[in-house]
Amino acid sequence: MNETIKNMEEYAKNNNVPIMQKDGIEFLLKFIKDNNIKSILEIGTAIGYSSIRMALLDNSINITTIERDSSRYSLALENIEKVSLSNRINVIYDDALNVNLNTKFDLIFIDAAKGKNIEFFEKYKKNLNNGGYIITDNLCFHGLVETDLSQIESRNVRGLVRKIRNYIDFLKQNKEFSTKFYTVGDGISISRKN
Ligand code: SAM
Repeated sequence: MNETIKNMEEYAKNNNVPIMQKDGIEFLLKFIKDNNIKSILEIGTAIGYSSIRMALLDNSINITTIERDSSRYSLALENIEKVSLSNRINVIYDDALNVNLNTKFDLIFIDAAKGKNIEFFEKYKKNLNNGGYIITDNLCFHGLVETDLSQIESRNVRGLVRKIRNYIDFLKQNKEFSTKFYTVGDGISISRKN
């Protein structure tokens, strides 16, 4: 089990797969434990690292996770099979913006295309149980969200930074949800339905 997780961390590092940072995942796992979360929707599976870590916390945790990249999806299935968690982690191969789910979850974890956070939030908020949470990763975007835009050379990156800033404003102004921001990992927000 531990070896599979180590191998996934190694694979991610060597192949530039952006899995959660160490302190970020520890923070997320503690939150799930402390809040007795049992059902999770994850947007952005990559190779299954965070879903496996979350599912390993407790036998009664069930996860649905969505990935649109075919090779990452296949690797996620392989990894989940290796740790015998296929019965508790359901991987959907599709663009999360095209998926329609009727199920409700205690937690929605947004960790996919950084420019689409508002769309994911708006689309999936109906899938939250009462008192549920939406957690979003990468709100610091490697420190770039705090950086002066004129210092960022790439136009694409500037565009993404603008979108993440918009998302942070969207969360701050949202009347339906109260959000707390944490500088742990690459920047994490926790939004709770009012
Ligand atoms: N949560 C994973 C972990 O920590 O192990 C990391 C996820 S990685 C940051 C983001 C993943 O989201 C990528 O594999 C990418 O292909 C996927 N993705 C991006 N936009 C998506 C979308 N609209 N629908 C589904 N998957 C998406």
